[in-house]
Amino acid sequence: MNFCSNCGNTVSQTIPEGDNRLRFVCDHCDSIHYHNPRVIVGILPIYNRQILLCKRAIEPRHGFWTLPAGFLENGESTLEGAMRECWEEANASVINPSLYALYDIPRINQVYVFFRAELAEPNFGPSNESTEVALFDERDIPWNQLAFPVVQTVLEQFLRDRKTGEYKVVREVVSDPSKGRKQRP
Ligand SMILES: [Zn+2]
Repeated sequence: MNFCSNCGNTVSQTIPEGDNRLRFVCDHCDSIHYHNPRVIVGILPIYNRQILLCKRAIEPRHGFWTLPAGFLENGESTLEGAMRECWEEANASVINPSLYALYDIPRINQVYVFFRAELAEPNFGPSNESTEVALFDERDIPWNQLAFPVVQTVLEQFLRDRKTGEYKVVREVVSDPSKGRKQRP
């Protein structure tokens, strides 16, 4: 950042007293501006044996497929945020949500939280954020057109778990998301 969001003056990077990390500190009002990881919440919506995906109408990764997910807002729980994103991006409401995966991506300062959930009815549709919303059988998942490596990671996890019928909560540190995009046959 360049300017203080409190008073508009310039900021400098320094380690405040009692701290051990560089922070942006205002040169004028001494406000310390902490930047912390962002939480992205999402749903893995299932209908029968199919998975709901959205084709992104917005950057980044415009035109690529993703699970409904987005930044958690102040004042909402992770589940509330995930359900909201599912509604906003896919016009879909889900039932029986359960916590499924937590991915730390320290390299880009993000934390992803995914819930598994079911569509009670196959009701969904495009939105401002998605040009297309569709249900996919496993064999039709557009692996080479997925928006983010973490989407591939959680889908692969889900398909593995589905074979055994055992869904444990997954927790994984994704060290380098740019290397996570494996080519699928
Ligand atoms: Zn200031």
